[in-house]
Amino acid sequence: MTACIIDGKAVAAGIRKDLAKKTTACSHTPVLAVVLVGENEASRIYVRNKKKAAAEVGIRCEVFEFSGSIGENALLSSIQDLNDDPHVDGIIVQLPLPPQINPQKVLSHINPGKDVDGFSPYNVGLLAEREESAVVAATPKGILKLLESTGESLEGKHVVIIGRSNIVGRPTALLLLNHDCTVTVTHSKTVNLSDTVRQADIVVAACGCPKIVKKDWIKPGAIIIDVGINRLEDGSLCGDVDFEEVKETASYITPVPGGVGPMTVAMLLENTLEAAQRHACCHDENCHCGRCGGN
Ligand code: NAD
Repeated sequence: MTACIIDGKAVAAGIRKDLAKKTTACSHTPVLAVVLVGENEASRIYVRNKKKAAAEVGIRCEVFEFSGSIGENALLSSIQDLNDDPHVDGIIVQLPLPPQINPQKVLSHINPGKDVDGFSPYNVGLLAEREESAVVAATPKGILKLLESTGESLEGKHVVIIGRSNIVGRPTALLLLNHDCTVTVTHSKTVNLSDTVRQADIVVAACGCPKIVKKDWIKPGAIIIDVGINRLEDGSLCGDVDFEEVKETASYITPVPGGVGPMTVAMLLENTLEAAQRHACCHDENCHCGRCGGN
């Protein structure tokens, strides 16, 4: 068997095309505020890519840059200004933050209605409670869309997730549980990882270990979603799955690059548009909805 490749680039392009139409129909141009602290080169590249992708679908992305030595209170106060600004629909804080700043405190400070990364405890809580109104983090949301793109039913499927981080493993577990999967979450302390993965109908690999998932870890016909992005010594990128081996056993598999990565950006833009649609009223000077904070 050779697996069908799930083309994340193509799925994401379709979603972006749809978003471009919807932003045109929105009562105002959606605005995404990106908070960037310090000089982290990778963060700058991510922010540049998000800004470009946003412009392509008609979302205005405004980057607020702060020195790496900024204090926690000053950063919280700047986020409060964005919370209070009725023209800002979505706010994201590019991680990582410098060591003097507690990221949980900062993420908790974002108005939940503007938290388009879905990292605030409020939105994570709504997701845990299976509330439809939860803003779901972009990578888990993208993973779900890729699984749905296969046309396979998710109900009752055993998903094994490798990794338990707050931005990928945990929210993906909650989201797939909410979609009637049976979910096992594994991590760096899991014993006999390969035996657990072999029981999976769906594997979500998100541990940042290059090509750790091998062909003999996979039940024939399983669906493989590879979230990992690892740079090898020769400069090339690879996932957490040994793609060449595993594609001989799986039914569907995502490549790296070109799988989950493009979906993450598309889902952030979708979350921003949805926030703008919710905040349409805030662009009226008589708005008293309480979400925009400006009135
Ligand atoms: P993280 O470092 O925060 O968490 C890694 C998780 O993997 C931890 O829970 C850890 O317990 C687990 N782990 C580590 N080694 C393991 C092992 N040998 N066996 C089993 N579990 C192990 O990482 P993260 O932020 O969740 O990211 C994971 C990977 O996904 C990274 O490669 C990252 O670059 C990538 N990523 C990709 C996207 C995307 O859009 N494609 C988005 C976010 C993260």
